[in-house]
Amino acid sequence: MRKTVSFTKDATNLFFHILTACNLSCRHCYINPDQHGHTTLPIETIEEWLALFASRSEKANIIFLGGEPTLHPDLARAIKKARALGYASITIDTNGYLFHDILDRVTPQDVDALSFSLDGATAETNDALRGEGSWETCIAGIQKGVAKGFSTSLIYTVSGANLHELDQMPALLERLGVQHFFIQVLGIRGNSAKEEAAADGLMRVTRDHWVEVVPRVAEDVAKRGIKVTWPKVFLDEGEPFECAGHVADNLFLFPNGRVYRCPLCEDFPVHAMTIRDGALVAAPRINETDLFELSIAEGCVMNRIIQPGNITYKEDGTPTWRVACCLLKEEITP
Ligand code: SF4
Ligand code: SF4
Repeated sequence: MRKTVSFTKDATNLFFHILTACNLSCRHCYINPDQHGHTTLPIETIEEWLALFASRSEKANIIFLGGEPTLHPDLARAIKKARALGYASITIDTNGYLFHDILDRVTPQDVDALSFSLDGATAETNDALRGEGSWETCIAGIQKGVAKGFSTSLIYTVSGANLHELDQMPALLERLGVQHFFIQVLGIRGNSAKEEAAADGLMRVTRDHWVEVVPRVAEDVAKRGIKVTWPKVFLDEGEPFECAGHVADNLFLFPNGRVYRCPLCEDFPVHAMTIRDGALVAAPRINETDLFELSIAEGCVMNRIIQPGNITYKEDGTPTWRVACCLLKEEITP
């Protein structure tokens, strides 16, 4: 059953970056410490901030990320606190190194999903993007998670550097026992926004390549009994455009207290909110909220500003297609 996952304000999704430090230096990393801070948050602050968002909606989901969140010595305590506060689901996004023996300190009852990042079906392709030895370590981490009974998912960020191996992923996922596959699209932010990235072959794939390859691979994944989620990216003719900044409650929280509603804004000091003296307050205008108001023929305003290369125009100057919100997803649940 393929469906577009509609936006809702009824569920808050809190993407909590508890630190920005990482043991890897991926070529496409979106973390930008100048904008997001260099701090490893003390556990007391993490607990305080978790409490701040727990009651925001009846159903609040939390995703712990970094940097690499398992580098934080108190991640297990943060997870247990999130459970005690009643978060509806708890996910750890990890590069697979699983520091501080995290899988021995939490149980599958504490964590709803371990989400591993892998960007190639082979070590050659993955390690060229994520660093020597990272494929093997991530695969070992997934195997350990599966063996311990954790629900595991895998995130594959598609770019010109690894689209050619997406076809090989369904068989690998099946072999590993992964339950949910997230296909992501490269965003032109963080390292990918640097000039050398494109020169180095790290670029977004064309619309033709995206629509030809990604839905086909997604169907193959689903046929194997694995749930699959991928971004819509390009809207079909007549499909309505919606900005998640308006109609959903996704919050991207960084160690310096900035809270963004739109991931594409994260390279700029335009966050909608900030945590000040323990309270969540609106950031001074102009901020990203003002961009969400704009209605343009191309669809997503931030896409038009930071990655206009994925829009083409007809002879009359109108765009050939509209670009969806980067948070709009397609999903198949087998
Ligand atoms: S593992 Fe994640 S946080 Fe670390 S460098 Fe790679 S993309 Fe960045
Ligand atoms: S990606 Fe575009 S449409 Fe989505 S929240 Fe950001 S500005 Fe809005």
